[in-house]
Amino acid sequence: MEISNRIKNLPPYLFSEIDKMIAKARQKGVDVINFGIGDPDQPTPEAIVQTMQEVIKDPAVHRYPSYKGMYEFRKAAADWYKKHYKVSIDPENEVVALIGSKEGIAHLPFCILNSGDQALVPDPGYPVYNNGVLLAGGQPITFPLLEENNFLPDLDGFNPETARKAKLMYLNYPNNPTGAVADKEFFEKAAAFARKHDIIIAHDAAYSEIGLDDYQPHSFLEVKGAKDIGIEFNSLSKSFNMTGWRIGWAVGNKKLIEALGRFKTNIDSGIFSAIQYSGIKALDMGRAPVSRMNKIYTKRRDLLVNGLKNLGWTVSKNRGSFYIWLPVLEKKHSSQKFSKKLFEQTGVFFTPGSGYGKNGEGYLRIALTVNKKRIKEAIQRLKDRGFKY
Ligand SMILES: *Cc1c(COP(=O)(O)O)cnc(C)c1O
Repeated sequence: MEISNRIKNLPPYLFSEIDKMIAKARQKGVDVINFGIGDPDQPTPEAIVQTMQEVIKDPAVHRYPSYKGMYEFRKAAADWYKKHYKVSIDPENEVVALIGSKEGIAHLPFCILNSGDQALVPDPGYPVYNNGVLLAGGQPITFPLLEENNFLPDLDGFNPETARKAKLMYLNYPNNPTGAVADKEFFEKAAAFARKHDIIIAHDAAYSEIGLDDYQPHSFLEVKGAKDIGIEFNSLSKSFNMTGWRIGWAVGNKKLIEALGRFKTNIDSGIFSAIQYSGIKALDMGRAPVSRMNKIYTKRRDLLVNGLKNLGWTVSKNRGSFYIWLPVLEKKHSSQKFSKKLFEQTGVFFTPGSGYGKNGEGYLRIALTVNKKRIKEAIQRLKDRGFKY
């Protein structure tokens, strides 16, 4: 039996090794404090769960849903954009519902790239950009996100030849893994860059609602004319603690939305209608549940950043997403080695940055999905085991 090159050529998944390491430690009775999980620890808001409990009784929802999402859900997503970003979206032609935004992020390259076509992907970055491009037969070209540029791409210094050749560029703010945010000015620059080089911008806004210290992240579509050159992915996963439900959407350029919808009609049959009704409920709730979560993340971040600073670590406060991105202090170690050493000596796990790309080397990612009591415990363990500088 032979597996396709498409699968064989995917880069090795660092995190499967890590999952094994953590599982093994747990089996041995280690009390693991895992800061590696990019999945909210709090439950889905009660009103959304109740909606599910009610709608699931209706046999009409047990049948195949519509491919591109029910009109009411697309309308709720469009209304969200109007209300929160003052962006007008036509629910008929400019929204497609997704089985989680990851699904759309991975499938978009199939709709844009022909074999060998180039797409620009951030390094460090969410691995799905790179691997989605590879699976579609495209060629990912990485661009660096560097601390000196606040983890934004250097668009002014971008190699014009590279830009000219590329058909697609992924952006993601608030950012995973760096916690960086982008202001509207940056998005305007990105749109101009895309127009100049005839590149499609795919903005991953999975963390569009996760702003700390009352910071409110921007949508790429707030930029005038953004819909001419781009598409934005959004999701209920991180905003409403709904990662397991699998519901998201894409908004933006009509031609891209149409192509993505057409691709999907050939491989999936849409999102379970009961989940779409629950999603409508979430969107109708507005920002109250999210701001409650953001307060929790802000407190956790402060506790961690202050705790680590007291131990002499170099760390600064992220304003977006629920990730702290900080340099590995023991420079003699790679991020993976340091992360392992820390874990073996303390049971505290911080994700090695190298899992997100070459430029993630030298960094660690801490997810704020651990409660305050456990954060305090983790800091105490670091202190006791001498991880202070
Ligand atoms: C979590 C995450 C997603 C995927 O979320 P879905 O659950 O598929 O909607 C997309 N992009 C980034 C950067 C993420 O961290």
